[in-house]
Order: sequence, then structure tokens, then C-alpha cells
Amino acid sequence: MRLFDSMRQDGFEIPTGILSAKPSHEPDQKTASGCLSLDGRIAAQWVRQLCAEKVKSWGPAHLAVILASDDPASRIYVNHKIKAFKEAGMSSSLIEVPAGMVSESALVELICQLNDDPSVHGILVQLPLPHGISQTKIIESIRPDKDVDGFANHNVGLLHQGRLSRALLPCTPAGVVVLLGLYGVTLHGKHAVVVGRSAIVGKPMSGLLLHEDATVTIAHSKTPDLKKVCREADVLVVAAGKPELVNRDFVKSGAVVVDVGIHRTPDGKLCGDVHPDVTGVAGALTPVPGGVGPMTIAMLLLNTLRAAHLRQRGR
Ligand code: NDP
Repeated sequence: MRLFDSMRQDGFEIPTGILSAKPSHEPDQKTASGCLSLDGRIAAQWVRQLCAEKVKSWGPAHLAVILASDDPASRIYVNHKIKAFKEAGMSSSLIEVPAGMVSESALVELICQLNDDPSVHGILVQLPLPHGISQTKIIESIRPDKDVDGFANHNVGLLHQGRLSRALLPCTPAGVVVLLGLYGVTLHGKHAVVVGRSAIVGKPMSGLLLHEDATVTIAHSKTPDLKKVCREADVLVVAAGKPELVNRDFVKSGAVVVDVGIHRTPDGKLCGDVHPDVTGVAGALTPVPGGVGPMTIAMLLLNTLRAAHLRQRGR
């Protein structure tokens, strides 16, 4: 896989298909209908362990997180990230800016200080930002080699040019490719359909699948007959932000389905963009929770470590 090849160049050896053989001590990952659960918790643990080993020999990798909103969900996400860094033996610092007191210029100044601080290897601004602050301006003020979310123009450009070994890649789509690779899912020559074209998930996801030699179709809210388009997919990635939009009627028999969506239902449970009934037809499915979500955090660790290592090596 192209992504694994570029990671290997940076010292991250990720073996394709290592999770495809079920270890005897683990529960059966297949449903009664034979649909394999692509377990993001196991895959993320694998990546986090790799980071924990690398940081011991490569030296420190520090992430600075800026939290500038009162959004309770943002706080939960930030806490998960900080905990994961600690568990991997990596350091992080949380800079909280009270939402009522934050201004665009103060945030840019803070980011400039972090850009110049050699002990900081990665900078993450937790989104969304308070109303009236330009997300684009804030993201673009992060130095490209510390942009561990991979959202800034420089890294977006590198991704779409296929210069993967130079880019810091967005954590969610990169996490999807790593998850599929660890489970030995072949992308080369496959027809991949991505539902969603956001800058954070859909577009970079499509770019990464293209670099893995998949034939890629991007669908969105204006796509006529979404069901028909999805039924052509060997690999279907759904990032529409619409609870259970995709059901078994959208899925070709044996297809690999990746559910990026995450929603809280009125009864407090979590669900994705994909209805669980697809297990009756799909060959494999990422569960929600426990699929793509854990991979996003694991890739943030890996990106921060990569950022530190690339800097150390002067790249
Ligand atoms: P956005 O709302 O930014 O984008 C949604 C995309 O889906 C848009 O391109 C939109 O099309 C398309 N879309 C919406 N409705 C339909 C429809 N009925 N048919 C076809 N396409 C549709 O969302 P994000 O990309 O940021 O996130 C998508 C989901 O992934 C969300 O549930 C989010 O919570 C989740 N997420 C999960 C992460 C994780 O770590 N697990 C990380 C990031 C996101 P159009 O462009 O035409 O409007």
C-alpha cells in the first residue's frame, strides 16, 4: 500500500493484513451472516503501541492542544486525546482560552508562539471555533510541519499531489486506510465510493483511496440515485453525517463498508451513518462505536511523532 510504503520510509513498519487472522484468544469477529467486524479498537491499540515503542527510541514528541470553545463534546474529545498521549508515553499540553474572551488575533498570536517553540512538535486547534472566528485563518496560521490535523493548505496540497511521505495527513481518512490495511483489505483496482465531500473527511478520503489505486467515485447530497451509486462499490466509505442513511439496499454483496459517521440518538445510544442491517450483505463493516473513531486518535499520535521525527531529521 502506498500509505504504508511512505510510513515505512519514516520508520513506521505497519504490516499489511496483520489483523486479518483472528488470534485464538479473541472473540469471533464475524457475525452469523459472515460479516467481518473491522475493529478499530484493536487496530488503534496496535498503532498506539507502535507509537509508544518509537517514542522511547526517537525522543520526545509534544502536542499542544488549544481549546477555545465551551462545547462539552469538544472537551470530551480533547480529554480522550490527552489521555491517549499519556498512555503512549508522549507529552501534551492543553491551552484553554475561555470562549467569551477569545479573539481571532489573540489565537493567531498564541499559535505563532507555539510555531516558534522548539519543544512543541504538533499543534491542534479543537474545532469548532466560536462564532465569528475564521477557522481557515486559524488553521492557516499553524506551521505546516506542526499541522498534525493535516487540514492546512500545504498538507492538503501534498496529499492531492500524492507526496504522502512529505505530508501530515488528516487523521480520520488516514486512519481508515490504516485500519483497512491492517485487516488486509485490498484497495488496488477496487471501486471505492465515498459518500461525503467535506474538506475534513470526504475529499482527503477520496484522495488517499485514489493513491491506493482504487477507482474512486465521490457522492454527495446532490448525487441522484445514491443507492445505485453505492451498490457499485467494492469499498463503501460513508461520511455524510446523516444517521443510518445507508442501509442494506445500498450495499453490494460482500462489499467492505466503512462507517465514519457518529451520532447520539435520542435514547442516548451511539449510531453511525450506516444501518446495522448491512451486516446481512456486507463482507466487512466498521462498528459504531469502536470503528473509525479510535483510529482518528491513534493517527494523531502517529502524526505528532512523525512531525517530531521529520524535524529531527531536517525534512
Ligand atoms: P459534513 O457535514 O462536513 O459533510 C457531510 C457530507 O455528506 C457533505 O459533503 C454532504 O454533501 C454529504 N451529504 C449529506 N447528506 C447527504 C445525503 N443525504 N446523501 C449524500 N451525501 C450527503 O460532515 P463531516 O465530513 O465533517 O463528517 C461526516 C460524519 O463523520 C459526521 O457524522 C461526523 O460526526 C463524523 N466524523 C467522525 C469522525 C471520527 O473520528 N469518527 C471524525 C470526523 C467526522 P454536500 O457537500 O452536498 O452538502
